[in-house]
Amino acid sequence: MGEVTPCPPAPPELREQTLVLVKPDAVQRRLVGDVIGRFERRGFKLVAMKLLQVPELQEGRGYVCGYPCIIAPRCHQADRGLLDRHYQHLQQKPFYPALLAYMTSGPLVAMVWEGYNVVRSTRAMVGDTDSAQAAAGTIRGDLSMHVSRNVVHASDSVETALREIGFWFQRDELVAWESGDSQYTYG
Ligand code: ADP
Repeated sequence: MGEVTPCPPAPPELREQTLVLVKPDAVQRRLVGDVIGRFERRGFKLVAMKLLQVPELQEGRGYVCGYPCIIAPRCHQADRGLLDRHYQHLQQKPFYPALLAYMTSGPLVAMVWEGYNVVRSTRAMVGDTDSAQAAAGTIRGDLSMHVSRNVVHASDSVETALREIGFWFQRDELVAWESGDSQYTYG
């Protein structure tokens, strides 16, 4: 048997990654497939995905996820502060408590997408934070009406993406795979 030559790894510029969250309003409205479809059709590569319910913080009681807990208090401590870390820059905003309530109101889908300029392209696909300002054709411009229920989150810079992916995923939850179509998507 001849020696097997492993595929050369994709160049670093094709391996940029970003975090996308399909927020609880979108899961409830059955929009997960629509959001995923847009990133797939654009040509980005899905490298991690999970559906999760972020536990709700109840005053004086810590996070309460509603499921019987077999490893308490460790599992709740593991999740404790996930949204506080993710939305650290917004903690002083008047809408922050409402944002936490919204983000813990139901399951959400966390995903990591990979590809050339994925952070910048994804932000363009997502559209303005305020749905009323978001251009038609963007996810928020097509699927949402109000800033407080704006369907998706996407990292706003490569540095933020690295940090946010670390908040939501363990390293071994990311799958490195070579897609057969990169010669058609990148030339
Ligand atoms: P983006 O999600 O576009 O990166 P920000 O980081 O500024 O925007 O805000 C994070 C999230 O906080 C928004 O996506 C939205 O869900 C919520 N948010 C921002 N501004 C407001 C507001 N004025 N009222 C209610 N919710 C808001």
